[in-house]
Amino acid sequence: AHLDRIAAVEPAVHAFLHVNGEDALATARDVDARRAAGEDLHVLAGVPIAVKDIVVTRGMPTTAGSRILEGWVPPYDATITTRLREAGLPILGKTNMDEFAMGSSTEHSAYGNTHNPWDLDRIPGGSGGGSAAAVAAYEAPLAIGTDTGGSIRQPGAVTGTVGVKPTYGGVSRYGLIALASSLDQAGPVTRTVLDSALLHELIGGHDPRDSTSIPEPLPALVDAARRGATGDLSGVRVGVVTELGGEGYQAGVRARFEESLELLRGAGAEIVEVSCPHFTYALGAYYLILPSEASSNLAKFDGMRFGLRVEPTEGPVTAERVMGATRGAGFGDEVKRRIILGTYALSAGYYDAYYGSAQKVRTLIQRDFAAAFERADVLVSPTAPTTAFRLGEKLDDPLAMYLNDVATIPANLAGVPGMSVPNGLSDDGLPVGLQILAPAKADDRLYRVGAALE
Ligand code: GLN
Repeated sequence: AHLDRIAAVEPAVHAFLHVNGEDALATARDVDARRAAGEDLHVLAGVPIAVKDIVVTRGMPTTAGSRILEGWVPPYDATITTRLREAGLPILGKTNMDEFAMGSSTEHSAYGNTHNPWDLDRIPGGSGGGSAAAVAAYEAPLAIGTDTGGSIRQPGAVTGTVGVKPTYGGVSRYGLIALASSLDQAGPVTRTVLDSALLHELIGGHDPRDSTSIPEPLPALVDAARRGATGDLSGVRVGVVTELGGEGYQAGVRARFEESLELLRGAGAEIVEVSCPHFTYALGAYYLILPSEASSNLAKFDGMRFGLRVEPTEGPVTAERVMGATRGAGFGDEVKRRIILGTYALSAGYYDAYYGSAQKVRTLIQRDFAAAFERADVLVSPTAPTTAFRLGEKLDDPLAMYLNDVATIPANLAGVPGMSVPNGLSDDGLPVGLQILAPAKADDRLYRVGAALE
């Protein structure tokens, strides 16, 4: 049914870069047979899933939305992919994304943009617009995204889906094509909070192949979602962050946010106001740290080891000139912009002024969170300042594009978990998201509060 749905809506939505039809059907049939034979399978066995094209999948193309990886078929599986396969989830295919996950609209994909199923002239968010659109358009019931600065949560907000960025280290990064290693986390994209909890428990937990993986077990996420679904939040302190809201946020987004505070109060939660004064500097720090790490991570695309190789049309064919020609042809404008920014920020003489300062701001943001979580069990804000904007609207203005991430970035800088849950429609008839944040390793709180609002 999902493959039929994909065939019907893909010409309009373009959420997928690769559809894995035959293999997905084979997995589904195998699961049916094993279940019929009485085997005790995972609760999600047989439930199809779409995977963002930044997660490596053996035998299936993986491009990260870039020309430089066109035609590359990974020889191994990411830990996430292994866990999905072992639990018997048919992988429907790979979803579209901004090139190397840089962007907030999926318009930086080298393979064409994805359309928001709510309004095809609008962006589905980014960088994981393909995963969010696939779930919103009923092409897949579940998807995997990655979130370095908001790429699971912001697409969730603008497509009316649930998206979760786990605690840093909660889900293995082994086999994710790295954007910024100290910020990247993979997580679930679904239509309900309980579905996210089930998927998060499946893909999360310790992995010896990721040196930053948290050794202790995950908190009980499915239990927390079921508890939240009773609608009782008595005793829960919810902090409203002064710095995340107000100016620059669309009126309809603010109105839905105020209403959600009423719903939380009605469920018995206590609402407190908290201030995180350094959040104002989060965007600036992020756009130094991310390009710095990205410029280093992307150095491996040298025209020798993976995908594309372009030789210079004239002159000698040296390693350096092949690398220049390949990277010139294989990377898009946004990727080049960030490589140049990052290389500059890391260069001798500028390192302390830029990268060093940004790391200090990062520490101050972590302290803001620590102080806020003394007074509140979870924090809430709008996920994104606006609803889905029109395709093309911000494409020529990188700063306007970056501003979309103001509310989501602090969580990545501090490593704390965040969720976006659907929060009604704005005055323009488009979905709005509510962001919930919790302390590191307390992802269960997101599920309890998120499920209570459904
Ligand atoms: N919009 C952010 C950026 O462009 C988000 C990136 C992400 O989470 N992958 O960096």
